[in-house]
Amino acid sequence: MPVRFWVLCAISPILVDADTIGLRLGVPYEHFFGHRGFSHSLIFAVFLSLAIVLIFFRDHKVCTRSWWGLFGFFTLLTASHGLLDALTSGGLGVALFSPFDSNRYFAPWTPIIVAPIGFANFFSEWGLAVLLSEARWVWLPMSLFFLLMRGIRVRFLKPKEPENLAS
Ligand SMILES: [Zn+2]
Repeated sequence: MPVRFWVLCAISPILVDADTIGLRLGVPYEHFFGHRGFSHSLIFAVFLSLAIVLIFFRDHKVCTRSWWGLFGFFTLLTASHGLLDALTSGGLGVALFSPFDSNRYFAPWTPIIVAPIGFANFFSEWGLAVLLSEARWVWLPMSLFFLLMRGIRVRFLKPKEPENLAS
């Protein structure tokens, strides 16, 4: 994949937390545009992904298989932020279904320690506990899943034969 793909993979889930800027400007946490509000919804993930694909992947014709693949991938990637936030132990919950339902939701199980708001607050005992918690509940299972998928691919899927260019 091109470099822009990997850069956008890093940026799109981070953009979801741009709502913390609003907190500094006085937007209340529980407001529609407050922290973990609309920007953490599934609809926002769809629209952000659509914008990313239309702006940065113009070489993929709209509604082709590769276009849908990119659109679906960036939607899942962006939505993962709100879904993982719903697994955290603090805050007011996540407006996953905004703008249709402004309720804030938590998952039934919240094992991940919520991160402090603000970069400076992260360099503390709390920040370290968050990193360890995320390593245990996100990075470790995801790494095992990645290794499992890679193992399945190597073991069971044949690589695509190069097309015969002579014919
Ligand atoms: Zn968030």
